[in-house]
Amino acid sequence: MIRTGVYPGSFDPVTLGHIDIIRRAAHLVDRLVIGVTTNASKTPMFTLDERLAMVRREVESICATLTVECEIDVVSFDSLLMHFAEREGASIIIRGLRAVADFEYEYQMAGMNQQLNDDIETVFLMADVSLQPIASRLVKEIAIYGGDIAPFVTPGVAADVRDRVNRQKR
Ligand code: ADP
Repeated sequence: MIRTGVYPGSFDPVTLGHIDIIRRAAHLVDRLVIGVTTNASKTPMFTLDERLAMVRREVESICATLTVECEIDVVSFDSLLMHFAEREGASIIIRGLRAVADFEYEYQMAGMNQQLNDDIETVFLMADVSLQPIASRLVKEIAIYGGDIAPFVTPGVAADVRDRVNRQKR
């Protein structure tokens, strides 16, 4: 049986924290489906298509360095997370956990998802200690104020973010 996991998020933009979770999740499943949300409640810096392209590009480099066999697909979804997971035939939903701030929300969401379908388990991966403070929102804020985002994202993503910030300033 092929074990599939879904890793959902808005990835606006994808950070080194996300990439670490993707790499580690790839060791837990045979097929990892990264679900990029349209997320109407947030005004994203990057469109859905841009985020999909960005995550796909980063996944290519991750796959090149993996020591395990894992298929990684990057798709968008606009539905309830549990319906997306069911549609993909997933047995686990993967979430990254940063400090206590993430905990309450994630705990509640995992509880409700369990009630929706208790065959699909939410699995939390603790953020790597060195990547713990990284959040997409802060990366965008730092870039908007001209700070250096190189420690938080890949060089490709850093260039994309700087580009977007410069274009928005014009
Ligand atoms: P959301 O829009 O759901 O907050 P994000 O794109 O911010 O999604 O994050 C997607 C997932 O990645 C979430 O589970 C989040 O906790 C996790 N994540 C975000 N940043 C990090 C990080 N620095 N380290 C580990 N996990 C992270």
